[in-house]
Amino acid sequence: MYPSPFTYHRPASVEAAVALLAEFGDDAAPYAGGTELLLAMKMGFAQYDHLIDLKRLPTLRTIANEGEFLSIGALATHAEIAADPTVRDLLPPLAALCGEVANPRVRSSGTIGGNLCFAEPRADPPALLAGLDATLILRSTSGERAVPAASFITGALETVRAADELLVRIDILLSERRVRYERIVFGHRTVAGAVAALGAPGQPERIWVGGVATCPAPLPLTQSLLDAEPGAADARLHDAVTQDIAALDIADDEEASADYRRHLAATVALRAIAGCREELQR
Ligand SMILES: Cc1cc2nc3c(=O)[nH]c(=O)nc-3n(C[C@H](O)[C@H](O)[C@H](O)COP(=O)(O)OP(=O)(O)OC[C@H]3O[C@@H](n4cnc5c(N)ncnc54)[C@H](O)[C@@H]3O)c2cc1C
Repeated sequence: MYPSPFTYHRPASVEAAVALLAEFGDDAAPYAGGTELLLAMKMGFAQYDHLIDLKRLPTLRTIANEGEFLSIGALATHAEIAADPTVRDLLPPLAALCGEVANPRVRSSGTIGGNLCFAEPRADPPALLAGLDATLILRSTSGERAVPAASFITGALETVRAADELLVRIDILLSERRVRYERIVFGHRTVAGAVAALGAPGQPERIWVGGVATCPAPLPLTQSLLDAEPGAADARLHDAVTQDIAALDIADDEEASADYRRHLAATVALRAIAGCREELQR
């Protein structure tokens, strides 16, 4: 299938890109790697009169250690993040994940920003970044605003991004927490993913799951248990994780029943916690 006709724009600056978004609003879509967007347009699930190609905006690709946080441009591809020495050094689980999502073709053109803005329920970075207390920086002609990764995605293919906003970068707070991301994949897509970020003095523990409900979700009972009792026994952890996951709105679909997904989500969450605990003991 072919997408319906559209006008192709290739702005030479971020200012020009947001001006185009302001001009065309809902009729326009930013075009990064195109791995989701073009497929959705070809299948007839999405239609835009204007595509705004971001590929000539190298400033959106920058990856930098900003001291308190790691800053990753929205246009950085999975492959670039996986290979970047700063990410590998400061946040190895993110580099490792970006090195294994999808396939080499998607990794070399698909971007972290496209992944987040598409908000596909089975995507991995949304849960990982929520668990890391990352902040997404959105830019429009009115300026910039910061949105916590934890509240960016509101449902399947839905985010708080307004039509005139461009995601420009992701700022990830650097902390002493040990971080572990675990996932189970069917085919190319994740059916359950979980991040644990544990063990930094004075900072709350974080456990999030993704890939199971329409958007990433925290496990609040488990987090509180670990905050109060970092060495909580495995049986109590198991109960807390099970209760948290039972409270999530998970539906049956063609890949897995809701019950099976709950089982997988509990499995990856417990693996992520166990992995962090092991690292903390080294
Ligand atoms: C076969 C296959 C397997 C996959 N497996 C996995 C997997 O295991 N785990 C996983 O997490 N993901 C997986 N993915 C998803 C993949 O990560 C995304 O396709 C990719 O990251 C999307 O990025 P893109 O640059 O191509 O986005 P595009 O397709 O260009 O854009 C996607 C959406 O985001 C919008 N957009 C893009 N950039 C911006 C921006 N800067 N600001 C505002 N809006 C923007 C676009 O308008 C569009 O609506 C898979 C995809 C495929 C095709």
